[in-house]
Amino acid sequence: MTDSLVQHPSAVRATVDFNEPGVRHGHLRLPWSRNDSAWGNLMIPLTVIVGAPGPTALVTGGNHGDEYEGPLAILDLARRLEPSALTGRLILLPFMNHPAVKAGARVSPIDGVNMNRCFPGAPEGTITHQIADYVFRALTPMASLVLDFHSGGKTLDFLPLAASHLLPDKGLEARCAAAADAFNAPYTMRMLELDPTGLFDTAVEGTGCTFVTTELRGGGTATAESVGMARRGLRNVLIHAGMLEGEIEMRPSVRLDMPSLDCYAFAQEAGMLEATVDLGGTVARGQVIARVWRLDRTGAAPEDVRSGMDGVIAARHFPGLVQPGDAVAVVATVV
Ligand code: ZN
Repeated sequence: MTDSLVQHPSAVRATVDFNEPGVRHGHLRLPWSRNDSAWGNLMIPLTVIVGAPGPTALVTGGNHGDEYEGPLAILDLARRLEPSALTGRLILLPFMNHPAVKAGARVSPIDGVNMNRCFPGAPEGTITHQIADYVFRALTPMASLVLDFHSGGKTLDFLPLAASHLLPDKGLEARCAAAADAFNAPYTMRMLELDPTGLFDTAVEGTGCTFVTTELRGGGTATAESVGMARRGLRNVLIHAGMLEGEIEMRPSVRLDMPSLDCYAFAQEAGMLEATVDLGGTVARGQVIARVWRLDRTGAAPEDVRSGMDGVIAARHFPGLVQPGDAVAVVATVV
């Protein structure tokens, strides 16, 4: 156990040692007293791989429980990577919000909390806050690099991208951008968050740690192509960090930027969504990018949803129905 764990007030305990060389598959154990088990625990799987002395990377998936590329890439690496091939230490947490992953849902079925809106978490909070608190205050301080995998989940579909954020610390911004470049997804995004409060991203970046995230398609499933991107990107980032031997496998990547919140297009009405431009399609400011058709009558004109800027469709609402206020599409500019 490291000092940060001993001093940590959290009730979460890791069943594995973080320092001993080798591979250990274990769990984070979190007391969860409930009707069917008074002294029960959540058991969140993790793998720790310690190789030759070097940096630590924390790789997380399942922050949202309906996004699959990250968990699949992490599970594969956890099973295959030999400590002799690793410089440094890997902490692999494929199902960070384990209850949400088991439910196939974005947020936890236990407390209804969206993990990526509750960082830095709280040791005295509900289950999701407690997991976030442990990940942020016990695991993150061990790492100089955090890779948090996301995809669109059941309600969004994205161009496959790795992303970093615009940050006040320009040195950190450059390190995060270099890690996102190394991931080498088909698209590389400088991301502007609609709501940065409570994000794992914002919490980790605030500590000065290099942070890279992804959006690798979505719709609540994964494809052979999107899982391949996740596996290749994970390997590339670890090579970039000096932790794995080999060459970074570079393919062409389109740079995207989100220069303002005008990139988000919202539905005003409820109804059936008709995309008029598909993912990756080029759009002009003011162009109709989607229509929303009423469900309660025929003969009525649909609502036109227009792009607030020139660019390409980088993300879209995935289900066929929308509610007022739903983000119908996100437009990004090609740099
Ligand atoms: Zn997500």
